Amino acid sequence: IASKLPHVGTTIFTTMSRLAAETGALNLSQGFPDFDGPPALLEAVGRHVLAGHNQYAPMIGLPALREQVGLKIQRLYGRILDIEQEITITPGATQGIFCAIQALVRAGDEVIVFDPCYDSYEPSVQLSGGHCVHVPLQPPEFAMDWQRVREAITPRTRLIILNSPHNPSGAVLSPTDLDQLAALIRDRDIYLLSDEVYEHLVFDGQQHASVLCHDELYHRAFVISSFGKTCHVTGWKTGYVVAPPALSEELRKIHQYVSFAGVTPLQWALAEFMAAHPEHVTELPGFYQQKRDLFCQQLAHSRFKFVPTAGTYFQIADYSAICPDLPDLEMAFWLTREQGVACIPVSVFYQRPPADLRLVRFCFAKREDTLRQAAERLCRV
Ligand code: PMP
Ligand code: GLN
Repeated sequence: IASKLPHVGTTIFTTMSRLAAETGALNLSQGFPDFDGPPALLEAVGRHVLAGHNQYAPMIGLPALREQVGLKIQRLYGRILDIEQEITITPGATQGIFCAIQALVRAGDEVIVFDPCYDSYEPSVQLSGGHCVHVPLQPPEFAMDWQRVREAITPRTRLIILNSPHNPSGAVLSPTDLDQLAALIRDRDIYLLSDEVYEHLVFDGQQHASVLCHDELYHRAFVISSFGKTCHVTGWKTGYVVAPPALSEELRKIHQYVSFAGVTPLQWALAEFMAAHPEHVTELPGFYQQKRDLFCQQLAHSRFKFVPTAGTYFQIADYSAICPDLPDLEMAFWLTREQGVACIPVSVFYQRPPADLRLVRFCFAKREDTLRQAAERLCRV
């Protein structure tokens, strides 16, 4: 058939996780923990299922969960939200991103994204009839170049998609970055989608610069997060979108026909857990920083070159001292099949990858023994 997405194949995350399973490699490719969510959270789901919380949740999400999201946002970012009008629970951040894009982008519109770029944005933009304008982040630290953003803006620009902390590089935006962006779009009809699914995974004492802290930007933004990341339960596919009332209203028109609502007992359990354990999110940076540090300390004995990641649970590593001529997809296959460690080639996150890109991404959301074993294998190559 004439494909609506002719350039889209199976995602690299499916490919690499499948290869890891087939070969028995340690799977540091697709981003998910190899440990479970907090016992209190898991126990609550079973209880709510047995208590009969098994029919449709409200379309915009369970009030108790929206209330907890609102309280967290007030506590961390100082914004007081109207939980009826500004918070929508979605089955995963991915669905929230899709609905936000469909709500805003019209045929012929341009959407600015930053390469390397998470894989779900561009197909969602294409399905809306818009197209992406790719602005490269500047390696090695993958910094934002606001001059290039200025140059990429045209009268057709409708949306800018931010992702901080950034997958795959781990780079984080600063409050100054947000101010610069605000100045750039101040007098223009441009909206923002801020993918903040790694909002709680920022290291070395840095603070996450959320668009929720920035009045001017928030008024034209969809801000997206994922309980999958925050509670170590990626398979629960539950997230949320925060946006001002007029934007939330448009988002909900789409969300109600894509899925209608998220999974009910999961929302009950998450609401209960967030209320009982507000400390969970504040302990997350330390929890994951320990894993980053362990992985990086071990990897320092290898021939990979890297700078410890500033955020997310991903570590990028340069293998040019090992196989300077091997493209990164081949390198990822080789590391998985022959060395027993699966990873993600970074070129897949680019529209046009630099020819000399020699980077792979490792996920360190893993138990200590997995990280030690993986690093030991990587030190042998
Ligand atoms: N955005 C980014 C940057 C991600 O890395 C992910 C990964 N899971 C998502 C969105 C999707 O989150 P969810 O699993 O909640 O759909
Ligand atoms: N966000 C995850 C990652 O970057 C993958 C999610 C997915 O498989 N779609 O690894």
